[in-house]
Amino acid sequence: MLCDHYANQREWYKISNGILKLHPVCSNCGTFKNVSSDKGKKLSYFIRVLSELKKYCKVTEVQLRLIAKELEANPDFCDLWWISFEQQKKIFIGVVKKYVKVGNQVLESLL
Ligand SMILES: [Zn+2]
Repeated sequence: MLCDHYANQREWYKISNGILKLHPVCSNCGTFKNVSSDKGKKLSYFIRVLSELKKYCKVTEVQLRLIAKELEANPDFCDLWWISFEQQKKIFIGVVKKYVKVGNQVLESLL
């Protein structure tokens, strides 16, 4: 179930480097908000990357549609409340490589 996420409280939470920081936490589902500078991006950003991909490898419209559909259906990928761009990149590359034969380097250079 997707949550709309709203926070009226903050709690201490360890960020990646082990430092405790106050984070807004969703009052609905208890998920901590990503307050780092590594913020997730909207799906439209990745759709643009996909259209760029056509210049670098052979990829059909059908493949692009399937990739976009799978990303859209991934609740973690689209949940900008907590996901970081770094995590999105991993998911994105994983999904693209299921459909298209392309190296990580090419994908990372486009992101
Ligand atoms: Zn929530």
